[in-house]
Amino acid sequence: MENTLKKYFGYDSFRPLQKEIIASLLGECDVLALMPTGGGKSLCYQVPALMQPGVTIVISPLIALMKDQVEALRQNGIEADYLNSTLTPVQREQVEIRLRQGKIDLLYVAPEKLFGGSEPLVDILDDIEISFFAIDEAHCVSQWGHDFRPEYLRLRTLRKRYPGVSMIALTATADERTRLDIIHQLGLENPKVFIASFDRPNIRYTIERKKKGKERLLRFLKNQKEESGIIYTLARKTTEQLSDWLNDNGIKALPYHAGMTASARNANQEAFLKDDVRVVVATIAFGMGIDKSNVRFVVHWNLPKNIEGYYQETGRAGRDGLPSQALMLHSGGDARLLREFISEVENEEYRDLLSEKLNQLINLCESRKCRRQSLLAYFQEKHPGNCGNCDVCLEEAEHFDGTIIAQKALSAVYRLQQTFGIGYVIDFLRGAQTKRMRYEHMDLKTYGIGKDISKDDWQRYFRDLIDQGYLQLTDGKYPILRLTPLSAKVLRGDESVQLRGKVRSLASEDPVGEADDDLFEHLRKVRLGLARKARIPAYMILNDKTLRELATQKPQTISEIGDVHGFGQAKVKCYGTQFLDAIKAFEHNRTSAESAV
Ligand code: ADP
Ligand code: ZN
Repeated sequence: MENTLKKYFGYDSFRPLQKEIIASLLGECDVLALMPTGGGKSLCYQVPALMQPGVTIVISPLIALMKDQVEALRQNGIEADYLNSTLTPVQREQVEIRLRQGKIDLLYVAPEKLFGGSEPLVDILDDIEISFFAIDEAHCVSQWGHDFRPEYLRLRTLRKRYPGVSMIALTATADERTRLDIIHQLGLENPKVFIASFDRPNIRYTIERKKKGKERLLRFLKNQKEESGIIYTLARKTTEQLSDWLNDNGIKALPYHAGMTASARNANQEAFLKDDVRVVVATIAFGMGIDKSNVRFVVHWNLPKNIEGYYQETGRAGRDGLPSQALMLHSGGDARLLREFISEVENEEYRDLLSEKLNQLINLCESRKCRRQSLLAYFQEKHPGNCGNCDVCLEEAEHFDGTIIAQKALSAVYRLQQTFGIGYVIDFLRGAQTKRMRYEHMDLKTYGIGKDISKDDWQRYFRDLIDQGYLQLTDGKYPILRLTPLSAKVLRGDESVQLRGKVRSLASEDPVGEADDDLFEHLRKVRLGLARKARIPAYMILNDKTLRELATQKPQTISEIGDVHGFGQAKVKCYGTQFLDAIKAFEHNRTSAESAV
């Protein structure tokens, strides 16, 4: 296994669960593999496909991706092909000939090509040796999943037609119900189920209230040097305005949204893939079908719709495992806008579900608990917190004795009979004379006892009290503050409470690395030149991680270059000398420039 990994992909070791999954497939077991985006699902079937005779059939609904996936494999010297509706009859025939000759190791197929049309692929498959079936995006087979595709249902006939051929189903999203459904629908037999952690340790999560948003964004982008990324917004109009504004401020950006023509959208996506622009400003329509491994940052200019969406979208950063940034800038206005959208949904049950999910997201934003811990908890995964790589963990807070503040807050909740939300309780504490403030509440002793503290500070204190378990917020459309078993002690004065005061951020937003930055930038240009010549995206030549290692290790010989992460045999042969020469020339120029000074 390790030899195959090194030879074709240039990697030294497997990621968690990859080896176990491959071993199961080689042992002819059925497998269900759940791994987050970027977890390395593809290698789980690519490696065993190369170790066994026969062709491995990869079924995927993402037609737009197939060509790139196959191209990337070929760059690694692997015999791969694809069949989907974009091929001409002649191209299709050529693939079929190669298939019958046993020349293909991996064949990517759209499900409709497998069974449909006048000459379904299964007719050919009946006559040849199949290594195993890999069903990518397997959640598409389930009506419980979020992306059901009817054509996937026909995959259940595979088990009957090829009883001796094992299957692996792979997905990045599947709750328990969807998981069982996948096994059932595909007819997997005693499958080995592997569930990887959904943690993406290389992504740094930062969630802030939007203040002077554009300045903040520009500062962030300038820290990203020449790296590329995606900015998500809520409205089509914003994508255009923001990308214009970025261009005016020296950052090459393009918009992407569903209102554009397909060809304009494709052109912008290509420009991004080929590194012609650094930034795409997009509505959520962007990024589903792209596989660019060096997306270094994802910015949410507006509040995403829910936590799943946030996780998926931020997950498009850092698939190569290098440090990457996820920055969210949210505002109360976004929340109101999303609530308006939700209120227009007709079905009541669905409407409540959406608003519940929005509340969970807002709680994540307002909380000062480790972001990673909160995010993973949402997916029922335990994380000890203190991840050291989120805004909360990277901030040094001055704590102060907030017992009196806590007592005021808790008694207000108590006096209001635990039936109001944060906003109302704060108004009440501050003695506000708003329309909604009830007369009978104005007569209570606690009314106005928190005048000296600003609304924003109260917000933070309430969230802090919730995080520490002195208060809790109910679920539902209108979350209500409730006391907890810990509250009584504080109210009685038996327990003192520490609150977070001033904070100081310890984070730097520079992309991390010990690599020689100038050399890295130089190699990046070399790579772009090669990519343009070969008419493929730059990351397919070599990914950023490999480029960084080149800039750190500065290999001098072909055999040293073969040791660099991501340099498999085919890549060494195609590009080894070019990069060696580039490094030598660069170092040489630098030394002569230095001695000239
Ligand atoms: P997924 O399909 O799960 O989203 P991919 O299979 O596209 O993820 O893998 C994401 C990235 O991680 C790819 O660039 C891949 O080459 C890289 N990768 C996968 N496994 C390894 C490994 N064992 N060592 C180094 N890089 C890996
Ligand atoms: Zn953290």
